[in-house]
Amino acid sequence: MSVIKNNLTSIQDSIIQHAEKNHKNAENITLLAVSKTKPNALIQEAYAAGQRAFGENYLQEAVDKIKSLKVLNEIEWHFIGPIQSNKTKPIAQHFDWVQSVDRLKIAKRLNDQRLDTMKLSDNTTPMLPLNVCIQVNISEETSKSGLSTADISELASFIEQAQGLVLRGLMAIPQKNAPAETYINMQQLFNTLQKQYATVDTLSMGMSNDMAIAIASGSTMVRIGTAIFGAREAKA
Ligand SMILES: *Cc1c(COP(=O)(O)O)cnc(C)c1O
Repeated sequence: MSVIKNNLTSIQDSIIQHAEKNHKNAENITLLAVSKTKPNALIQEAYAAGQRAFGENYLQEAVDKIKSLKVLNEIEWHFIGPIQSNKTKPIAQHFDWVQSVDRLKIAKRLNDQRLDTMKLSDNTTPMLPLNVCIQVNISEETSKSGLSTADISELASFIEQAQGLVLRGLMAIPQKNAPAETYINMQQLFNTLQKQYATVDTLSMGMSNDMAIAIASGSTMVRIGTAIFGAREAKA
């Protein structure tokens, strides 16, 4: 059995274990395979093992991969990296999801550009609106992207009415060794948003090192890189 297949199986098993322990349904927890810096061959290997959702951080690298892996039906691409406002177009054109939207200007550009792309797509494979998670700076680190909790509702209400976007939920990258309270705060913000908007079903929280506490706090999507593909080379 391939190493990647092995890793995917053991992560799926531990998602099930953590879900059961917390009386949650593991079927409601999506595993996002974070493939940044990893070559196409490894993505294909994960796909062959049944993995469908992949997360990327670096735009040019991601667009190259998306273009060359077009043959993989059902593959789903999530942009999870910081977004510069002059780089929104390739995200709108090529991705299924964007999880790192943290300001109105970005959401507006993504909406306009997605609508343009949807108009140009042919009828046999119509392009759907872009699924969006709002990134919340839950640990309030000045260096990290994400908006502060007070600003969620304004951005959410814009995304909700935007025809090119679908509001799916919230994403967070808690600080290393963040207290349980941080995760619970995210859970509460998510619950509030879910009550307001019918399309909200995603709390994207948890990486290789904090998957257990994230699932205990209601995460519906864990973003795992290292535990699937191994350590990354430092990005130059
Ligand atoms: C790199 C990255 C991950 C994956 O992190 P690992 O520790 O390798 O599992 C998850 N989410 C985001 C936003 C990332 O940038």
